[in-house]
Amino acid sequence: TEILSLKDVGKRYGNVHALRGVSLSVRQGEITCVLGDNGAGKSTLIKIIAGLHSHTDGTFTVNGEEVSFSSPRESLDRGIATVYQDLALVPLMSIWRNFFLGQEMRTGWGPFSRLDVKAMMRITGEELTKMGISVPDLDRSVGALSGGQRQCIAIARAIYFGAKVLILDEPTAALGVKQSGVVLKYVAKARDAGLGVIFITHNPHHAYLVGNHFVILNRGSVSLDSARADITLDR
Ligand code: ADP
Ligand code: ADP
Repeated sequence: TEILSLKDVGKRYGNVHALRGVSLSVRQGEITCVLGDNGAGKSTLIKIIAGLHSHTDGTFTVNGEEVSFSSPRESLDRGIATVYQDLALVPLMSIWRNFFLGQEMRTGWGPFSRLDVKAMMRITGEELTKMGISVPDLDRSVGALSGGQRQCIAIARAIYFGAKVLILDEPTAALGVKQSGVVLKYVAKARDAGLGVIFITHNPHHAYLVGNHFVILNRGSVSLDSARADITLDR
């Protein structure tokens, strides 16, 4: 089932058309990859879905209901978790504190409202272990972790707290081959947990490893929209 869709969405900044007539959809348990060069409109797309900007044309729906977010909180409240490339977690805070950070801002979803420190540490440890993420000390600040570990923890957090849609902003862009592989494994875990994933990337290879659906943005418009089965390699 479709959880999120954009139909003919446009975004103008003054007279700059950052997006024009963009349509795409995200289904439960599927990964929609969005590819495009610099300036194609990828950040603008994320900002609309994450509630940092609102669209100026077209229709944006979540669970069949038309929305237009005016704050990140509204996006979170619809079950949309956004993991930014550089700001996946707060560097100066401990790992367990980061794990529970979004929970304090959310209202409508997630299993807990407020817990004591011991419980939060225990749950963070259990969940990361379950997901196969090993961290030496949950009390350490996130700044000590690698970029790949941060992406994995942010993805694990979204899954644990019951996000319905996961937006990934170039999660492998700054990573080497090995770390990218680990992060892609977590992207696949999110899909297998039933989330609908939007995977923004520059890297067609990474997209093809995990994606079900591919959208290429070119100067603000969709230049290719294709399911995995439609793509064959030229010989
Ligand atoms: P990408 O993330 O794919 O590099 P962006 O969404 O950042 O693309 O940008 C798409 C287009 O919109 C670019 O031409 C960019 O210069 C323009 N743009 C983005 N943000 C703004 C803004 N706040 N004001 C004016 N133009 C913007
Ligand atoms: P971010 O924090 O994601 O860089 P910005 O909105 O500042 O968010 O910038 C997004 C993109 O849009 C960047 O590539 C930036 O160069 C471009 N951009 C931002 N403001 C403008 C603007 N006034 N005119 C043209 N491009 C812009």
